[in-house]
Amino acid sequence: MTAAPGRGRPVLFDATAQAEFLRLLADGTRVGDAADKLGISRRTPTQLAARDPRFAEQFAAAKGRGRDARSRPENLKHGDPATYNNHACRCPRCTAAATAARTGHRHTARTDTTAQIRPLRVPQPTTATSKFLMLADVG
Ligand SMILES: [Zn+2]
Repeated sequence: MTAAPGRGRPVLFDATAQAEFLRLLADGTRVGDAADKLGISRRTPTQLAARDPRFAEQFAAAKGRGRDARSRPENLKHGDPATYNNHACRCPRCTAAATAARTGHRHTARTDTTAQIRPLRVPQPTTATSKFLMLADVG
């Protein structure tokens, strides 16, 4: 079953696009962002990897290299609390950002005015016997 030329939808994710995609991933671009740059669906590479074991291997390797590239100290986004938390960066900018974020969380938790205290409705006895039952229940 060979596709006749000029029939069907043109292939967007051809060999050139695949090589560019893998290069972007290896440089640290995330899968979705790399797909957006090439104008393909985010699922296209994953679907190709499911059909093509050779591409699957390259895809996994490129993702691994990209992960390493993103976590190199010079590529971290300094001054972001997420870098302090997820990459354990203790540079002054990340430490300050994480401290500010924690202080912010504590501050909003303490001054939460949406929480309201509702008084409990105290049941009132309706008959003489129910009054004694309530008293017995309390003790
Ligand atoms: Zn840092």
